[in-house]
Amino acid sequence: MDLPPAPNGLWNRWNLGLHWGTCSGPNCHVRENLLRCGACRAVLYCGAAHQRAHRPVHKSSCNLIKTARAKLAEEEATLRAHPGDEFMEANPFETTRGMFWPHLPARPYMQARFELISTLLNIKTGTAVEEALEHSLEMLQLNRRDNQSIRSHVPALYLRLGREQEAYDFIKWHATIGGADDYDWGDMENPFLNLHDEDVFEPVTDTKELLDLGMLASLTNLKLRLNLDIQSLEKQFNKPGKRNATYDEKMEWIREHAICDILYKRRDIVERSEWTDILKSLQEQCEVMFDVVDERNKHYWPALRSPERYAAAMPVPYAMGSPQEINWVFRNTWYSWAECPPVLEIVKSWHAAGKGRNRRSS
Ligand SMILES: [Zn+2]
Ligand SMILES: [Zn+2]
Repeated sequence: MDLPPAPNGLWNRWNLGLHWGTCSGPNCHVRENLLRCGACRAVLYCGAAHQRAHRPVHKSSCNLIKTARAKLAEEEATLRAHPGDEFMEANPFETTRGMFWPHLPARPYMQARFELISTLLNIKTGTAVEEALEHSLEMLQLNRRDNQSIRSHVPALYLRLGREQEAYDFIKWHATIGGADDYDWGDMENPFLNLHDEDVFEPVTDTKELLDLGMLASLTNLKLRLNLDIQSLEKQFNKPGKRNATYDEKMEWIREHAICDILYKRRDIVERSEWTDILKSLQEQCEVMFDVVDERNKHYWPALRSPERYAAAMPVPYAMGSPQEINWVFRNTWYSWAECPPVLEIVKSWHAAGKGRNRRSS
């Protein structure tokens, strides 16, 4: 087996559609000695020739990022220089951390950072998406209440990066600790986004009512990915001659074939010799989640079947369950499906076959 080096140990990234550490030049797969575009720092090139060749395509999004970076730097300098007044204490990155939005002088900074995330997400590279995720997570730390709805796109970004375990931990936190009636978002002593290595195999519970549509869609995507991984694991190792495969042999296969990173830390699952009950449970969970999303907004699954209708749609104010809500959620989640064709095909076929709709009408 000759796998390319794995960023942060996540080989599964090579099984997803997002460009990872390769030159963005036309049909170029060079991975070594890449240079970063100096203006946006979000794309990589093998050399000046491919940078020039890519320029016509890249120019407008590059300029938007460059402008957004400059604006953010300016707003950050202003905020750091804030002398302290009736609206906000001085040195807000220490004194006001977690509560930025209610303090008016911090808002232009938060808006500038949001704008940088939006411009980065025009670029389909691991470098850009990873940076967008880092900004998003840091913005949540700066403003826990998340007045800008950053949280609804975070799980999809994790999924695009092949970081499914963290996606699950993030979603579960919102469905449990953050979703509790008495959780005090203003108390910085409270645990915040503190779940790690939660059990992705556990059944979907009724706490799903606490999640927004973007998170529900991402949870569906995640369970489908896991289901596919276990299906192929079973197909590969639950057959004569393979049942006695060692853990290391299985892991080698997983590194090459798995879509998600979940199994890297789940020796208990990998070491099994059959997975029938797990597959049954996961299949049920996927179907439950498909219905939950469909019930929350019946326009979401159809949108994945006709992405061209939503690709250019601008987010507008919306009511829950409305077609307008999809403009926003589609934007936040589409690439987590498009970059993982096997799961996209499943939900498209389920929708085409009338899943969900049947349940609603029965
Ligand atoms: Zn650039
Ligand atoms: Zn190149």
